[in-house]
Amino acid sequence: MTRILIVEDEHDIASVLQDYLRHEGYDTEHIADGQLALARIQADPPDLTLLDVMLPRLDGLAVLRGARAHSDAPVIMLTARTEEIDRLIGLELGADDYICKPFSPREVVARVRAVLRRTAQQAAVSNGPACALALDEEQWSANLHGEPLNLTRREFRLLQALARHPGRIFSRGQLLELAYEPVDDVTERAVDSHIKNLRRKLSARSPSHDWIRSVYGIGFSLEAPDA
Ligand code: CA
Repeated sequence: MTRILIVEDEHDIASVLQDYLRHEGYDTEHIADGQLALARIQADPPDLTLLDVMLPRLDGLAVLRGARAHSDAPVIMLTARTEEIDRLIGLELGADDYICKPFSPREVVARVRAVLRRTAQQAAVSNGPACALALDEEQWSANLHGEPLNLTRREFRLLQALARHPGRIFSRGQLLELAYEPVDDVTERAVDSHIKNLRRKLSARSPSHDWIRSVYGIGFSLEAPDA
C-alpha cells in the first residue's frame, strides 16, 4: 500500500486530506510538527510527503532540505505564500510539485496521483541496466528490455530529451531545441519523421506497449508502462 505522510499543523485540513486519500486507497499518517516529521522521514521514508511550509518548530523548507538528504521519495509542498513557489520547484530545494492554499482535496488527490505516476515512470526509464529503457549517454546507445535499439544520433537525442521527463508533453519546437543543433536546420516536419522512426524501433522491441504518445496539435511524450 502506498504510504503518504501529511505534515500539516492545521488539523482540519489534515483530517480532510486524510479522509480523501484513504478513500482513494492510500495509507496515510499525519504529523503536525516539522521536527517530528523530519525525524519520521529519516527513520522510515514514506512513498510521498505532503508538506506544509508554515509549521511549528521546523518549517517545511527545512524539513524538505533534511528529507532530500535521506530520500528521493516525492514531496508536494502545500503553501499559502506564492513568493515561495519559485524556490520550491527550483533545483535548490527539489520539491516535486506544490499546491497553493486554499485548495480542494480533490485537487490534492489528483496531484498525488500524478506525482506518483511520474515517479514510477522515472523508475522505469533511467540509466540503470535494470530499467526497461536504459540510455547510455556516453555511447549514444539505448537498450529496451536489454536489447539494443540501434538508434541514429538524432533518434537517440530525441529519446534522451523525452526520457528526461517521462509523461511530460514536448512540443515539436521544444524538441527541436533540445535534440538538434542550431546548425541542423531542420523543420518541425523532420521531427515528425524522426519520431516515426524512433517509434518503429521501440515497438519492434516492445510490441505490447506504445512508448511514444502523440498528442494531437501539441506534441509528443514518452510513456513508460505502469510499474
Ligand atoms: Ca501551517
